[in-house]
Amino acid sequence: MSSCCKFALCLTASGALLSAVAELPPPEMTEYWTPQPPVVSAPADGIPSDAIVLFDGSNLDEWFIMRADEEGEMKPQPANWVLEDGAMIVPPRPKGQPSSDITSRQSFGDIQLHLEWRAPLPVKGHSQGRGNSGIFFMNRYEVQILDCYENETYVNGMTASVYKQQPPMANACRAPGEWQTYDIIFEAPRFSFDGTLLKKARVTVLHNGVLVQHATVLDGPTEYRGLPSYSYHTPRQPLRIQDHNNPVAFRNIWVRELDLP
Ligand code: MG
Repeated sequence: MSSCCKFALCLTASGALLSAVAELPPPEMTEYWTPQPPVVSAPADGIPSDAIVLFDGSNLDEWFIMRADEEGEMKPQPANWVLEDGAMIVPPRPKGQPSSDITSRQSFGDIQLHLEWRAPLPVKGHSQGRGNSGIFFMNRYEVQILDCYENETYVNGMTASVYKQQPPMANACRAPGEWQTYDIIFEAPRFSFDGTLLKKARVTVLHNGVLVQHATVLDGPTEYRGLPSYSYHTPRQPLRIQDHNNPVAFRNIWVRELDLP
């Protein structure tokens, strides 16, 4: 059969019309069965069976703060956030006290993160001063948490921005006082053995189920002033949640470790 007859009806040399047999390979040729992915039970509105729970409302054991000791050396201390009704809340900060970012005791590379947060009521402040917090991946790459419900600020610093790098594709904020969700896929940067950057970090963010960052490439760690640039760090680093001196609340925080190519 000539190549012109591969997929359709064609004519023989004598001109008779034939029903051509497609010269396609058997379907099994493009199917493979192993390895089977691991089974993860994923109950409706529940936590996947392979998730690491970092906050379930009962205690702050998975988190710590850094404080200077009497010699001025920074040491880990128990997290001092307020536990209330199954949530943990950024604590009030007396004048002169340092901020109380909380850091996870466990370290991670690529992860899927779920967390729920709530901007405070009554509404106070505006722009960056209203319901500000943030989730720092690897202790340095921030996805912003901010109350941007009827509150404008610079767009690359608004809710669900990669802070000072990339605005979200939508403002999916709920009103302050309402619980909101972040579901985030974070791909850690890759460095070679000599510290050369091989691949930049990427992040995908769903805010209240709305896709707002899609495989956004990060130019480096979050910088408040100046441009970001990468410097080597080890492949696993802790998460950190920001104390920006606004009583933002959090609940239901879990991660799944990913083994991305
Ligand atoms: Mg922030």
